[in-house]
Amino acid sequence: MLRGIVPALLVVCLLPGCNRPDDPVFRDRFYALGTLIDLSLYGANQQQQQEAGEALAQAFNTMHSEWHAWEAGSLAQTNTQLAAGRPFRPGPDILPLLQTANRLSLQSGGLFNPTIGKLIDLWGFHADEITALTPPDPAAIQELLARAPSAGDVALEDGHLLSRNPAVQYDLGAFAKGYAIDRGIELLQSLGLAHAIINAGGDLRAIGSHGDRPWRIGIRHPRQAGVLASVELSGDESIFTSGDYERYFEASGRRYHHIIDPRTGYPAGRTVSVTVMHREAATADAAATALFVAGPDGWAEVARRMGIGYVMLIDDDG
Ligand code: AMP
Ligand code: MG
Repeated sequence: MLRGIVPALLVVCLLPGCNRPDDPVFRDRFYALGTLIDLSLYGANQQQQQEAGEALAQAFNTMHSEWHAWEAGSLAQTNTQLAAGRPFRPGPDILPLLQTANRLSLQSGGLFNPTIGKLIDLWGFHADEITALTPPDPAAIQELLARAPSAGDVALEDGHLLSRNPAVQYDLGAFAKGYAIDRGIELLQSLGLAHAIINAGGDLRAIGSHGDRPWRIGIRHPRQAGVLASVELSGDESIFTSGDYERYFEASGRRYHHIIDPRTGYPAGRTVSVTVMHREAATADAAATALFVAGPDGWAEVARRMGIGYVMLIDDDG
């Protein structure tokens, strides 16, 4: 009997959130920003573990609801005010969030464009479940392209925001996860924690190490179950991947995925996934999206402009 029970317990205890007494890594898991967030802590005492788990879950839940692209919250209020074309003072969390997004957008030459929310919505990606069966009307896409919303349309002055273009609608889906992970790492450091990973569905920032060895990270294969590569991280490093497999629908044998080329209004072609390594998670997140759009011919120039040193791009030839 015992033989049957012991392996079963071991299997169950490999799951995150289940901490074996002999495991030096404390793991916690919660849901936010549309994905499961896994926290790993090395060398934390019990009080730090509890404080960190609770504080992080609370911070992520707040960021999730305030920065949501299509549900009520401070980002939605910001979008309403921007569309009205009046200067207004946004909440204190929104200003640095949008300032960072705008800076990264300009650095990417507009390939990471957080102001194309109307286009993302038109493609049916402002939904928890993707139900679109066909691409949108080409005329509707052209109409939005002609209105050309960009980060350069939004002025941020004296704590006030003003949009010159009523077509601007912020969607931070390509960047908020990274920005949130940076804030989460700062929170852990403020609690005295130096060895940790915050992993949001495979996108993560790792600080310190796993004791006397580096943290080991798997990078998911874009077309098969399991990992394509693994990498060892220590010090302070983020890894972010943008892939055509994350959110998509299929019509007439074609895959229409969620990473839209702001120049054409259609899902970016020729790239399957892009993985970026960089210290800051916000930059890595925005860059992975921008390099996906730039594609096999354009990625190197955009990486240089965004200060990215490590990239793995898988094109449609694999
Ligand atoms: P990611 O997985 O980080 O590449 O983010 C993809 C998400 O970002 C999409 O689901 C959209 O919400 C949004 N998005 C799509 N295309 C772009 C783009 N070119 N620039 C900025 N955000 C985008
Ligand atoms: Mg991204």
